[in-house]
Amino acid sequence: MKTSIATVSISGNFNEKLEAIAAAGFDGIEIFEQDFIADAGSPRDVGRRIRDMGLEIPLFQPFRDFEGLPKALRAKAFDRAERKFDLMGELGTDLVLFCSSVHPEALGGIDRAAEDFHALGERAAARGIRVGYEALAWGRHVNDHRDAWEIVRRADHANIGLILDSFHTLGRKIDPNSIRSIPGDKIFFVQLADAPMIEMDLLYWSRHFRNMPGEGDLAVSEFMRAVIAAGYRGPISLEIFNDQFRAGLPRTIAKDGYRSLIGLMDEVRRAEPEVSVDLAPMPGRMEIRGTEFVEFATRGAEADALKNLLGTLGFSKTGQHVTKAASLWQQGDARVVLNEEPGDFAGTAFNVHGTSVCDIGIRVRSAHETVERAIRTGSAPFVQPIGPGQMEIPAIWGLGGSILHFFDDAHHGVWAQEFGQSGPAPDGAGLSHVDHVAQTMTYDEMLSWSLFYCTLFEMDKAAMVDVIDPDGLVRSRAIAAPDGAFRITLNGAETHRTLAGSFLAESFGAPVQHVAFGCRDIFETAKRLAATGFSALPMPENYYADLAARFDLAEEQLALMQAHNILYDRDAAGEFFQIYSRPFAGGMFFELIERRAGYGGYGAPNAPFRIAAQKRLIRGKGMPKL
Ligand code: MG
Ligand code: MG
Repeated sequence: MKTSIATVSISGNFNEKLEAIAAAGFDGIEIFEQDFIADAGSPRDVGRRIRDMGLEIPLFQPFRDFEGLPKALRAKAFDRAERKFDLMGELGTDLVLFCSSVHPEALGGIDRAAEDFHALGERAAARGIRVGYEALAWGRHVNDHRDAWEIVRRADHANIGLILDSFHTLGRKIDPNSIRSIPGDKIFFVQLADAPMIEMDLLYWSRHFRNMPGEGDLAVSEFMRAVIAAGYRGPISLEIFNDQFRAGLPRTIAKDGYRSLIGLMDEVRRAEPEVSVDLAPMPGRMEIRGTEFVEFATRGAEADALKNLLGTLGFSKTGQHVTKAASLWQQGDARVVLNEEPGDFAGTAFNVHGTSVCDIGIRVRSAHETVERAIRTGSAPFVQPIGPGQMEIPAIWGLGGSILHFFDDAHHGVWAQEFGQSGPAPDGAGLSHVDHVAQTMTYDEMLSWSLFYCTLFEMDKAAMVDVIDPDGLVRSRAIAAPDGAFRITLNGAETHRTLAGSFLAESFGAPVQHVAFGCRDIFETAKRLAATGFSALPMPENYYADLAARFDLAEEQLALMQAHNILYDRDAAGEFFQIYSRPFAGGMFFELIERRAGYGGYGAPNAPFRIAAQKRLIRGKGMPKL
């Protein structure tokens, strides 16, 4: 299977695009004509430069407004086509995309268009060129791949075929299974794009909101399954028009594209086992069983403060690393590692971000399979020299410069071996496990993060939620394993004035802003915390007055909640209780929660009040930037 991407999908000048595309692992590019015209090199130069980078040019595009024109205009259209054929010869590509006409004078009629394409096929054949016809969703007369196929079928020429584009088919809600009956060898090329489901003008939606397969809401995998079942074995190419991607880093966008394509084709192969897909076998999306640890890079006074905070949260130090300046803190099944080692990866993370989460350990069915899938979908393995007495635990680079370690049954002994930890974990304040980790990134980067997690793991994304910060909007999206064994909330900040945005700016992109621990009984935990000297984020009386109005809570319960600064939410399944710590180390915080009867959210309705309370504290300390 050859992979390809249209140059229009990525930002930068032509060279920057090519470098990013080659580095991400693609086999080829669709040359978008505008990108080529803007370059100063001659067609031969450009073609050579592309091939020197190890890339092929499977497609030149687009040629517009060809078919159905009245006589005088028709002749001109053929002349125009001949000029582009010349150019293609010099570039070194033999396939061109003709999209369905939007010309105001274009005439309808399947046979008229078929005749035009038959005549074009004759001219193309003489030059060794193939022409693919694509139905634009907003084409004047042809806007459905089924009509485009009928034109190609009637044109009946070896050099004329069909080009399919998932956006044009799925955007108009055309059943992709109609593709299954098209002969695979008459499909010359396939373009893929996803998009969020938004009701708007098709052309505007297509030009600005397309995204990578898996990032949007369209049934791209169903589309691709039909294409493969039809017998198509040519290149699979991304054609993405997206404002954010055009402003994004070329390398990031190219990597995302590659990840999405490989993930998609793996999914297609699994869904259509009777059809051969030319993709080397790889492990499937990995099943997650829980969070093994959260590791902080920290140092000096900040380390002391964090140890103190963990102590008031009921954590106990249960181990010290055999060779490194790293300690293990435990409570129930929740483990926190504080790494103060300057020469370690944590040392680098501390130098960049200050006290921050530098590593997360995830329990999976198979650690080695996880790393293998991660590498196949474009992630890099993380390797650090193993010291005496240390266990090798498979790891990769996550996004935002952090590390993910993977644990399976083979790694149970690591805590005893490396940290000398033995015996049952202390019960502490009754915190039992890590419920979720909240990661903060710029809004532009959110899609990369959700794609990363959902391609690697069996995780699904929830709908995007707007979180109102007093100083701006933060978009939040949760992704979770089906049984909730691992949950992440992604928070995309658009301005540095929001709590999330200022954290991002102040910490130079530290990837985790808060860690939430689950507990069995929040009221019992609150009682125990009162004895440890824990100081919760204070919530105002107004908040509790509103709770009393919105929910029928018993008076004693409400009073207890107010006394312990417990926040509350409810969904169709059950109830949710939260306590927040005060911010520490430049804007990080802990959250303690209890989910009752399958509550599935994260307390989003409480976020504006929580953020306001946090800002009151931070501003009170004379940090006006927030
Ligand atoms: Mg297209
Ligand atoms: Mg949270």
